[in-house]
Amino acid sequence: MKKIVIIILAAFFISVCGSGETESKSTPKGRLKTAHDDLTKHFVFRDKGKIFPVFQKMRQSVKPWKESEKKAFLWRLSVIEKEAPGLIERAVAYRPVQVYRAQSKKGLPAFAVITSHSLIVSDDLLFPLKAKKSSGWADGILAHEITHLAESNNRLSDSPAWVGLVAPRIERALKRFEKGGPSLSKEKRTAIAKEEGLPSLYATTGAGEALADYVARIVTDKGYPVPKKVEAYVRKELLSTPFQPNEADRHFHAALDLYTKKKTDAALREFEKVFKLAPNLGVGYQIRAEVWKNMKEVDKAISDYGKTIEHRSRYNRADPYKDRGQLWKEKGRFKEAAADYSKAIEHGLKTASVYFNRAHARFMLKNFDGAFDDLSESIKINPGNSHAYFIRGGLWLRRKEVDRAMSDYDAAIKVDPKNAPAHFSRGLIWFDKEEFGKAVDDFERALVINPRMKKTVDPWLQKAEEKKKR
Ligand SMILES: [Zn+2]
Repeated sequence: MKKIVIIILAAFFISVCGSGETESKSTPKGRLKTAHDDLTKHFVFRDKGKIFPVFQKMRQSVKPWKESEKKAFLWRLSVIEKEAPGLIERAVAYRPVQVYRAQSKKGLPAFAVITSHSLIVSDDLLFPLKAKKSSGWADGILAHEITHLAESNNRLSDSPAWVGLVAPRIERALKRFEKGGPSLSKEKRTAIAKEEGLPSLYATTGAGEALADYVARIVTDKGYPVPKKVEAYVRKELLSTPFQPNEADRHFHAALDLYTKKKTDAALREFEKVFKLAPNLGVGYQIRAEVWKNMKEVDKAISDYGKTIEHRSRYNRADPYKDRGQLWKEKGRFKEAAADYSKAIEHGLKTASVYFNRAHARFMLKNFDGAFDDLSESIKINPGNSHAYFIRGGLWLRRKEVDRAMSDYDAAIKVDPKNAPAHFSRGLIWFDKEEFGKAVDDFERALVINPRMKKTVDPWLQKAEEKKKR
């Protein structure tokens, strides 16, 4: 009987998984004036419209701007423009920034969306602050997000020169965190990051975030000693004026704009022009891979994720590995999928979903022990995934650990009472234990939840009912 269970489980795994970020020290003489009137040309306040996310499946509802909020926002921009001349000039050089006022979301006061060139300001904490009243905190957050928009191609933050400047600092800080262990407080971690010359604890998450937080420091905290080499580099590459727009980026922004408007063919033609002029633009490949993926051009997407991994910095490789792994899985190439998920984990993406997906790939490769360990890791990170318990239950059975299998099926059903395969599998164990009444209950429950399982469940239900009568 246990063999049957395993075969059935394999089929369910497939169906379960299928559904399944010097010069300008002199007086700034950029072409961008800091007057509010001029800024409003470059920052379009939006009350409606959809935010088009690419890297995250994230949507947020927007709410109307109040006039006082617009004023406070524009005043903050003028502070940034004064303290970091050249930054806003770069952010608006190719397209205006769409500014949305969103519902507050805890821990996310503002964020930038690269494809639609949007800035979403989502925290009410930003707005009791009035114009003409400085707030290092709020100005820093906006400067951080505007850096992402000024650097939406990540050319600087993915460059070997920038990575060479910040990576040793990040690596040293991370090593010290590791040495300190998980009990090391946030305050201590922040102190370590600063001792290593990083602008914040958050900067340890990657070269791009470090860049954005250095700019935030330059804007808001003149007392903080940004390392001289770093500051000189940021000022030369990102804050120098006047800024000279270039052809490759013109096409890059045109491609993103067309993609946002769902004009896919025209967007792809623009991407061709981008890569002719800038064949190493990692972010370009990453976004085009998304385009291909949406068009179900899986092989082209896989190829573009490969170029993304080749050209983006080590801090930005986890996601393309994970995304490519998913495509390999869809193609039934489980060996490649498992290898890509392993790389994603190695690059720091230790999420429940990555472990779960690698478990699937390993399962299909008959690496049952590997799959088992991944499911256990996935459950440790997210105890709310019913499927993970369900599949691990099957692997317990394979190890002839019936009681542990039972307790995983119990957990699967507790998390999701509508998990029909878990009811069915638990029914099989009851049957095996000759507890036919309980088996009948679970088989019937499975059928009520999912009548399409009739063909699989019915023969067992009949057998159990017969045995129950006896
Ligand atoms: Zn950021």
